[in-house]
Amino acid sequence: MAVPREIVERVKKLREEINYHNYRYYVLDSPVISDAEYDALMRELKELEEKYPELITPDSPTQRVGFAPAEEFRQVPHSVPMLSLDDAFTEEEVLEFDRRLKRFLNLPEDEEIDYTCEPKIDGLAVDLVYENGLFTVGSTRGDGYVGEDVTNNLKTIKSIPLRLLSLDGVPIPRRLDVRGEVYMDKDRFRELNRQRLEQGEPPFANPRNAAAGSLRQLDPNVTARRPLDIFCYGVGLVEGYTFRSQWEILTTLPKWGFRVNPHVRLVKGIRAAIEYHREMDRLRERLPYEIDGVVIKVNDLELQERLGTKARSPRWALAFKFEPTQATTQVLDIIVSV
Ligand code: NAD
Repeated sequence: MAVPREIVERVKKLREEINYHNYRYYVLDSPVISDAEYDALMRELKELEEKYPELITPDSPTQRVGFAPAEEFRQVPHSVPMLSLDDAFTEEEVLEFDRRLKRFLNLPEDEEIDYTCEPKIDGLAVDLVYENGLFTVGSTRGDGYVGEDVTNNLKTIKSIPLRLLSLDGVPIPRRLDVRGEVYMDKDRFRELNRQRLEQGEPPFANPRNAAAGSLRQLDPNVTARRPLDIFCYGVGLVEGYTFRSQWEILTTLPKWGFRVNPHVRLVKGIRAAIEYHREMDRLRERLPYEIDGVVIKVNDLELQERLGTKARSPRWALAFKFEPTQATTQVLDIIVSV
């Protein structure tokens, strides 16, 4: 049966709109709608594509990550793709994620999977390459396969080790790609915007875009003056060291000198992960940085390997988002009224 014309038109319109907002957000670091509004557009497109799979095209925003790297930067191919995350907004969707994993892995329904739970820091993802312990290349996620070279800008962030430490005698891998989220504290973001307004410059929409705009600078001196920091949460290509679990990654990274968020937790079973989400939601306002949800990941790397990845996201992880707060939906009004 042919897809109704109004559906074809709606899908086309949604893709055009989402592509425009992706460009504003990922390239210009200057969104014009809130994340919640963007998520609603994306959700509508996904639902229509699920209902009418014949409409899915490889260039649909539902099949792609981020945006192609901007031409001003040298391009850096990622040895292991930097994907996005599937998201969930309700407990039922999280329970369904757990059931789906068990079906895929042929596990009994009552078996509890070990998950790591991590705050989802609202910043931008970077990849840090270490060769024989030395920081050599740092890049943004870009389109997930090729990122932008921001090595010198990243070197201005004091909590990124230029040379790996070896605390507790942990050996230095021949090659280590570390993934983390560069972000800006809420207070420092407000102060930066105050200064920008004073100097007649446009303010940033939110701390995430301030962090992205500050890191994606051609002049590292500009980045050096911006109050950026990083939380690391994963690895890409690793040679000369073997990890067995995500928890081992999270607990080993600090021994090489990386900052890992203090609220990360290892839990048994999906109910405990949902409880973690509730706890973090209550804590959220009091944290000095913005988080927009929690990331739930299958802990065992062998299981992760078996689950594999889809076009734009791994099957073994889920971003369980928070309800948008007034602050996150209103911040753009402030800008419009400036
Ligand atoms: P995402 O931000 O929902 O999830 C993936 C990202 O989460 C990773 O790349 C990483 O950067 C980050 N992350 C933070 N903490 C992490 C952790 N502990 N473990 C793993 N990853 C962690 O996906 P996305 O594809 O980067 O962006 C989509 C989101 O960006 C949308 O849901 C929307 O909220 C926002 N967006 C908004 C606009 C807009 O116009 N307002 C436009 C485009 C995208």
